[in-house]
Amino acid sequence: MILERAVTKLNNEIQLIGRRTLDKGGYILIIGVVHGDEPQGEFLINNYLQKNVNFPPEFLFIPCLNPDGLANETRTNANGVDINRNFPTDNWVSGEKNRYFGGDAPASETETRFVIDVVEKYAPKLIITLHTPFKIVNFDGEGREISEKIGEIFNYPVEESIGYPTPGSFGTWAGIERQIPIITIEMDEEIPQENLIEPFEKMLTLLH
Ligand SMILES: [Zn+2]
Repeated sequence: MILERAVTKLNNEIQLIGRRTLDKGGYILIIGVVHGDEPQGEFLINNYLQKNVNFPPEFLFIPCLNPDGLANETRTNANGVDINRNFPTDNWVSGEKNRYFGGDAPASETETRFVIDVVEKYAPKLIITLHTPFKIVNFDGEGREISEKIGEIFNYPVEESIGYPTPGSFGTWAGIERQIPIITIEMDEEIPQENLIEPFEKMLTLLH
């Protein structure tokens, strides 16, 4: 069931998919394609949803947060903004107009505001974001224990990201400034994405 949707600059649609049967606060939010050149997350989520119509009610999915970037095969969105540098954190900076551009203002982008609205409306207890290519599990806030288990499933090391400034990142906004545990899985981009199905689904079983 599509719970929320937003239209992007290039008339693509961002969708939040869930079953809306829980009270606020019980959800786990799982997000793919923050960066448009990392398509694996959408593939994994859509593959799972096709097979599991009656997925656990605590799961909320945004299969593709950056559909314009996906269409253009760029890290940034259609405005050239890195969504993962555009969150309204204390340390937000606009920065250089390169692939890490933070935007002209914090939360200037539709994609960023969509996530913020979802987090504020549903108050997830855990957020998972699916990236490539570093083969690590990274967490902000209280997330070490679950990160260690996810790291075992994917066979990736776990790294706490505090101490590595990523101004305007989703991890800083949610994990550090709002104490919502947020785990970033940096998956292997060199193997066929089909090979990621098994660990991804094992992780969902673990979270459920
Ligand atoms: Zn990424």
